[in-house]
Amino acid sequence: MNLVLPQGVVRATSAGAWSSVALQGWGRLGSAPCQAARPERLRDVADAVTSNNGRNLIAHGAGRSYGDAALNGGGAVLLAGRLDRMLGFDATTGVLVAEPGVTIADVIRVFLPQGFLLPTPPGTAFATLGGAVANDVHGKNQHVAGCFGDHVAWLELMLADGSTRRLSPTQDAPAFRATIGGLGLTGVITALAVQLLRVPSNAMRVRRQRVGGLEAYLDAFRAARGASWSVGWIDALAGGAALGRGVLETAEPAAESVALPTPGARRMPFDAPGFLLNPLSVRGFNAAYWRRAPAQGDERVMHANRFLFPLDGIGGWNRLYGARGFHQFQCVLPEAEAPRGLRLLLEAVGQAGAASFLAVLKWMGRAGSGMLSFAQPGFTLALDIPSRSGDRALLLRLERITQEHGGRVYLAKDSALSPQGMVEMYPRLAEFQQVRARLDPGGRFSSDMSRRLGLG
Ligand SMILES: Cc1cc2nc3c(=O)[nH]c(=O)nc-3n(C[C@H](O)[C@H](O)[C@H](O)COP(=O)(O)OP(=O)(O)OC[C@H]3O[C@@H](n4cnc5c(N)ncnc54)[C@H](O)[C@@H]3O)c2cc1C
Repeated sequence: MNLVLPQGVVRATSAGAWSSVALQGWGRLGSAPCQAARPERLRDVADAVTSNNGRNLIAHGAGRSYGDAALNGGGAVLLAGRLDRMLGFDATTGVLVAEPGVTIADVIRVFLPQGFLLPTPPGTAFATLGGAVANDVHGKNQHVAGCFGDHVAWLELMLADGSTRRLSPTQDAPAFRATIGGLGLTGVITALAVQLLRVPSNAMRVRRQRVGGLEAYLDAFRAARGASWSVGWIDALAGGAALGRGVLETAEPAAESVALPTPGARRMPFDAPGFLLNPLSVRGFNAAYWRRAPAQGDERVMHANRFLFPLDGIGGWNRLYGARGFHQFQCVLPEAEAPRGLRLLLEAVGQAGAASFLAVLKWMGRAGSGMLSFAQPGFTLALDIPSRSGDRALLLRLERITQEHGGRVYLAKDSALSPQGMVEMYPRLAEFQQVRARLDPGGRFSSDMSRRLGLG
């Protein structure tokens, strides 16, 4: 097989339908050697699922999860990138039927000019629809639109014996709810129907405002409750009275379209040397970002892609953290606990001197519909932590603070959560495991993450 290496595949040699590959998560924390198949047709998916020589298997989308959700060291992975056909679209209802390897960028390229957007796009358009279901992803409009799974009308799931069944809120609802946010552990999604969102143009009217500290930030989010989209950028290294300062962006659909931004050739061509990333340089970058927003705020109309996927413009930006990679920590805390919990989290990062470029704060309005969905009402904070000595201790501390404040860690980003933390933060875990045992009694579907978290 002639392999064109997708993101995350760092090495590959082939034999028949299977290739030996080494896969990485987006955080580039080590690599997992495994056998990979990259089927194009449904019948090839069934062959791969049923004939993997007794190895356990996990589906892999675009490899945009930061940790080990889509890795399977010593086992097999099914690379879903070539299952990328759009199968049908109803312009009157806005329902798109597609294979799981279709990316968010594909959908936007075809449907935004027709006045449709994906309902809850995450911060990268490189993610696939299969990955969006399996992590029940959320966007900058979670407070109004919920999560991706809320907009999935049905999906087709292939089980370990190669049979496929259709799941929906009314067709085997428990299996549907276990698969939404189910980390690929119930089977391989082979098709799905998703309700797109109607928009008046391809553009957004974006308001920026500086916020001086954490309490003011939370108040500003509450005041922006009615905004269609909102996201906060936090200077994770500012301390004292400036702790939690940042730039809040809110956005509404613009009436008129704008020209598509010309794709830049910006690309991180090498792993940044370690000395570049130090508290001084990161502090300088964060402070400059804060100052770039005018003190009195401003308003701009921009293409939706620029607002929704700001990091996608820099190819391979994950190399900025150097060859040792980085963790991303994201948690959500209930609103009542957020002021104290977020303060403790930011203080812990500051005290550890863990240089983090801009952290992201978002507001969540409702829980996700999957048994392992991450979302719950409150505030969610995401920050990068470079891999180096002491990082595990810091991550454990962040996990404890999150747990003590009634929150949970996001598995799409995770590389370090403990099995105990998983049990405490995900109250529907036992229910998930029951459904999983029914769908996959032989335990074929498994990943590095599921084993690390003690999910069998
Ligand atoms: C820059 C950046 C910004 C991000 N911003 C956000 C954000 O704002 N909100 C958010 O929620 N997430 C965000 N993410 C995380 C990302 O959206 C999720 O990790 C998403 O699941 C990645 O999709 P993927 O196609 O790369 O899937 P992968 O990372 O390859 O896989 C993710 C999971 O999906 C499973 N899976 C993939 N395909 C299938 C299939 N066909 N059948 C069954 N299971 C499958 C895998 O087994 C794995 O468990 C961001 C990531 C990046 C890199």
